[in-house]
Amino acid sequence: MESTSALNWRSELVSKLAHVMPEFEAIAHVPMIEEIRTLKAARRAVIVAHSYQVPLITAGIADFTGDSLAMARFAARTTADTIVVCGVRFMAETAKLLSPSRTVLLPASDAGCSLAESITAADVRALRRRHPGVPVVAYVNTSAAVKAEADICCTSANAVEVVESLASPRVILLPDRYLASFVAERVACEVIAWPGTCEVHQRFSAEDIRGYQGTEVRVLAHPECPPEVQAASDFVGSTSAMIDYLRRVPPGRVLLLTECSMADNVRLARPDLQFERPCNLCRHMKSVTLQKVRDALDSGQLAIDIEPQIAERARRPLQGMIGL
Ligand code: SF4
Repeated sequence: MESTSALNWRSELVSKLAHVMPEFEAIAHVPMIEEIRTLKAARRAVIVAHSYQVPLITAGIADFTGDSLAMARFAARTTADTIVVCGVRFMAETAKLLSPSRTVLLPASDAGCSLAESITAADVRALRRRHPGVPVVAYVNTSAAVKAEADICCTSANAVEVVESLASPRVILLPDRYLASFVAERVACEVIAWPGTCEVHQRFSAEDIRGYQGTEVRVLAHPECPPEVQAASDFVGSTSAMIDYLRRVPPGRVLLLTECSMADNVRLARPDLQFERPCNLCRHMKSVTLQKVRDALDSGQLAIDIEPQIAERARRPLQGMIGL
């Protein structure tokens, strides 16, 4: 006979997911979620998910959900044997750098990122030669090899604070050009950018917002959106800043100019908010599925491995950011 607590978590999960999907669909996924929970316990694993993952992952199996910075902090303090990262490669590398003694699994081994792929370690070295003595801030959305060339890391949640902490008249902030212009408007120093973009946020245009201006719809944009989109929005902020903002607003209509699953995840906690389209999907984030998480936990394969020399150098700028 099943225990009351097993029955409870299932019915609680199904009623939570009912805010974003039909009940029969949620019920159909329960056996797989149950299997993942059992494998997770057997491996002494934790599952950490980015807010761009679907609610079946964030509400169904994740021990922790957040943005890149929160995920990094969680990975740094966990005592679990294994960390399963429901996100993209740079997030799994970050977890491995901050928790080197743990096994870190990336269930979708091909989950990349257009920002991380826009710049190499050789590009950073060339930038340093072009701008001698100028400190380099690497967005956490970069490979371990690129972080190894940086002085400090940042996320969109703390980029302004990190750049200000350097107290330098000029700072290189890479690789997102739009995040760099967002930061440049808020700091006193000159910000030197790299022409990388997020393929999800750069697709939004001012045209997407036009029909909502002057209405009761609140428009929120991520700093990786183009400047004209940011300028036409009511609020610009990181994933965690958007979530904080939405926690406080009264019920109503919202347009979230970011990855589509953000709206679904916010709806789990705020079903009184109505989300408008457009939103954009990140194909990299969406390559993580329940099936792949199950397979990774079952086999223990797809573990992240970083060359020790690179890991040692890449850890420093990450710890610099965490310590701020
Ligand atoms: S949303 Fe953009 S920055 Fe985030 S993983 Fe996808 S491509 Fe990379």
